[in-house]
Amino acid sequence: MDHPVRVRFAPSPTGSIHIGSARTALFNWLFARHYGGRFILRIEDTDQNRFVQGSLEQIIDGLRWLGLDWDEGPEVGGEYGPYIQSARTELYREWANWLVDQDRAYRCYCTRERLKSLSDSQDTQGYDRHCRYLTAEDHARKQADGESYVIRFKMPLEGTTTVHDVIRGDITVENSGLTDLVLMKADGFPTYHLANVVDDHFMEISHILRGEEWIPTAPVHKQLYDAFGWEMPIIAHLPVILNPNGKGKLSKRTVSFTQDGRKVLVLLHEFRQAGYLPEALINFLTNIGWSFGDDREIFTITESAERFDLSRINPAGGRFPMEKLGWLNGVYLRQKSLEEMVSYLRTALEGAGYQDLDEEMLQHIAPLIQTRVQCYEDVVARAGFFFMEVVPVTPETLIQDNMTAEMTDRALVATVETLENLPEFETQSLEEALRSLAEALGLKTKQLFGVLRVALTGQTVAPPLFETMAILGRQTTLKRLQAAQQTLSKPQVES
Ligand code: GLU
Repeated sequence: MDHPVRVRFAPSPTGSIHIGSARTALFNWLFARHYGGRFILRIEDTDQNRFVQGSLEQIIDGLRWLGLDWDEGPEVGGEYGPYIQSARTELYREWANWLVDQDRAYRCYCTRERLKSLSDSQDTQGYDRHCRYLTAEDHARKQADGESYVIRFKMPLEGTTTVHDVIRGDITVENSGLTDLVLMKADGFPTYHLANVVDDHFMEISHILRGEEWIPTAPVHKQLYDAFGWEMPIIAHLPVILNPNGKGKLSKRTVSFTQDGRKVLVLLHEFRQAGYLPEALINFLTNIGWSFGDDREIFTITESAERFDLSRINPAGGRFPMEKLGWLNGVYLRQKSLEEMVSYLRTALEGAGYQDLDEEMLQHIAPLIQTRVQCYEDVVARAGFFFMEVVPVTPETLIQDNMTAEMTDRALVATVETLENLPEFETQSLEEALRSLAEALGLKTKQLFGVLRVALTGQTVAPPLFETMAILGRQTTLKRLQAAQQTLSKPQVES
């Protein structure tokens, strides 16, 4: 490579990071690390109308959580700063004026109303270049009158513009289809186009890796680079991420939704709040649009950084396989230590409203469910009952196949008796005692254990029964069995 590798992630602070943007950040990071270059975070906050309070913090926090550290940018500084565009306004103004002086840009005084009537009356989008043809006197008069203006670029009217995309090849457009875009707005702020080009140049960005949705702006930016007499960075547009069913773009989604019965998350903080681990999410995102090779699906960020280059990026849109993320997260959760798993359980349960969680109990539960959960929701489903004051039990769920209410009642009474007298309340003795009890009652183990499982957990699918009892302890176990029995003796409400 001719230039040292310097890439940037340039989000606009318009809310939480979209998962598609997180993938863009990740690919830039991998690229920088692979080539020993620099990964720069730049905040493109020139559109004051779209600014969302708190989003800068969200971006910083989100990237840190993912483990994508930046070498230059907010909070870490760098020689090319400031890295927040609103602090660089002077620079953009200077270069916009330079273009005006060079006759490559002009002041446009058209009012909002005029522009509106234009777009209403024209078939084609765009500005009719009215002010491009004003005379020097016209300008002088309008300036003297203090008319507010924007600065527009003088797009060539003929010919074509070609940009070479490393992943896609040449992108060529007719200049006649490009509009005289606004560079500086009336509020004194630059547009995205101007600020982006000026910054990429002065920050000495070597490669632009960004989402496919930005392709239309590439020829426009090329025109700007040419007008400034600057070399355009090497550019590559990353493939769009499609919805899990392969139809439509995920980038159009602004918040989680349900598709084919499955919840699909789209904002980085939604993944975090649902209990996805950063390492699982990173692994998952790396697989969308890029392939590690060797048919490997599980790898660390360091391993992919070693291999990452643009040659294995597939230009075609990639599906977002939400179901795979769950599986991957499960894989990573299984690698967690007991301590980490306990803290994972605690966060999940506290997030669901459980309080005063006993640490020792969590330590017993963690290994029991570690191989069975993929996210916080699973933890709550599989472990929440341990901490409930009362578990939800109804005669319908309690009474097992080929059993009557009387049989169920008898089974519960007999279990209570057996357990009250059991010398040691631990897994093995519980199992032995209850297997013998099933036999004595003439029940299949499946029937008795089914009753007990519902009585103790309020659900039909739960962690192993005897371990569960041992964790709950004798007192709670007996209390729950008795409560279940009372449900049976309550008169049934006729519906
Ligand atoms: N600010 C743009 C964004 O929000 C950056 C696009 C680019 O990378 O050029 O994604």
